Parts: sequence; structure tokens; C-alpha cells
Amino acid sequence: MKLQYLGTAAAEGFPAVFCNCEHCRAAARDLAREWRSRSQVLIDGRLLIDFPPDSYAHALRFGVDLSAVRHLLVTHSHTDHFYAQEFVNRGYKFAAGMKEPRLDIYGNEEVFSVYRESTRREMRAEVGENIAFHVLHPWQKFTAGGYEVLTLPAVHTAGEETLLFCIRADKTVLYLNDTAPFSEEVYAFLRAEGVRADLVSMDCTQLDRAASKRHMNLQDNVFVRQKLLEYGICGPYTKYYVTHFSHNSAPLRDRAERLAASYGFCAAHDGLTVEV
Ligand SMILES: [Zn+2]
Ligand SMILES: [Zn+2]
Ligand SMILES: [Zn+2]
Repeated sequence: MKLQYLGTAAAEGFPAVFCNCEHCRAAARDLAREWRSRSQVLIDGRLLIDFPPDSYAHALRFGVDLSAVRHLLVTHSHTDHFYAQEFVNRGYKFAAGMKEPRLDIYGNEEVFSVYRESTRREMRAEVGENIAFHVLHPWQKFTAGGYEVLTLPAVHTAGEETLLFCIRADKTVLYLNDTAPFSEEVYAFLRAEGVRADLVSMDCTQLDRAASKRHMNLQDNVFVRQKLLEYGICGPYTKYYVTHFSHNSAPLRDRAERLAASYGFCAAHDGLTVEV
């Protein structure tokens, strides 16, 4: 299983879209290395997790053919995870020679509502009919393009069922953002499903800053890893990555990588490819 981080920043990006703080100015001096766009991960070139406004830039920057993506999992409706307006361009005279004419989008009810609102004005019937939306809730199990997907409840935002994903094929990936440390039931469910995670990708918006009610810092990541180990979901074979960094955390590559490594994690960066 090949996992590629296309974006590793929180909602505002790094450098942040309207910011001139010292961290953002430092990042802007070496964009080739420091630019973190909004979070997105591509699995095996065909299963996408989240669709931020930077998806188009990701396609150009990393040579990704977005038309080859048949299945899209969406964690929640925040704009940095789901920029639905873009889908009006997926067909008709705006796209030719697409590898996969059909797209299946999986997300919670709020994501579905954002999809409808965002495409209502401009979606052509011949584009919309090739996009199917599947409403998800926590504790579900389904198959998407040969991957088995489990949905779990995050701790993130009121009024919406933000989802964590467990994705299984020959290997198993846990995708854990956006979220604060989550309930004991999540670990119990994963154990009951016999999950053995080869790779765990965790929200680390806060990095070495104070804990948050909606996101994690490195101490929270340590807590989650400890729980996963206690429940037998992870083991010595598991790789741990942290991502979704806020500009407030000064996530310059050297700093983020050094801090993460001191806890036994790898700090992801835009373009990073991991094989498990
Ligand atoms: Zn986010
Ligand atoms: Zn800034
Ligand atoms: Zn969010």
C-alpha cells in the first residue's frame, strides 16, 4: 500500500493564507521545502482522503491524475477538507479523457449538505449524474474500490459526525484527523474488528503547544499510541506519522521533524510518500 501526503497543514495553510507572522514569513523564504498546503492523502493513486481547495495545486505539484480517483473519503465538512465547488468541473466540456468517469464520495450528512449547496448553482446534469454520494455514520463497515473501510467517531466539532477511518487492503492504515483524543469505544471497536495497524496517521495541529478540545498535540499522540498498543491494535511493526499542522505551531520542517522524532513519530510533509 502506497500512501502519499499531498498536504499537511491545518485549515489556514502554512504559510497561512492571510498571515504575516514570523513563522509564515520564515516558511515563505523557502517555499519549495516549507510549503504545507491543506491536508489530503492519496492511497495507491486511486483512493483519496479529503478534498481541500488545494487539490488542484496538489495534482500539478505532484503529478497526480485526479481523474483516476474513483473513491473519495471525506472526514468532515470543514473547508480545508471539502471544497465541493470543484466537482462542477469533473466532466462535460471541462474534462476529457478521464480515467474514471464515475466518482463515489463518502461522507457524513453535513458533508452531503455542503456538496448539495456548493454544486447547486453550477453543476451540469451530465457531470452530476456521474458522482454518487454515500452518507456515512460512525461504526460502519463498507468496501470502496477493494479497500475495506471502517468509520469511527472523532472528537472535533459540534453538530457534525466527524469521522476517523480505518482502511484495510493487504495492509492497514488508521487515519486520525481532525480529532482530539477520542473515546475508549474506538479502541474497543478496532480490537473487536481484529485491526492490526501498519501505519497510523495522527492529527498534530498543536505540535508542542497546549492541548486543544478539537485537535491533538504530541503528548496527545503519545497517549493515543499507548492506547493502541494496550489494545493490541499496534505493535512493533507499526509506523506513526503526524500531520495537519497549524501555522501557530511553527511547523518548519526541521523543527517539526525533530520534535516528532523525539517522541518516536515521523512528521509528514507535502509530497511525502510512505510504503507499508
Ligand atoms: Zn482540518
Ligand atoms: Zn502565520
Ligand atoms: Zn476540522
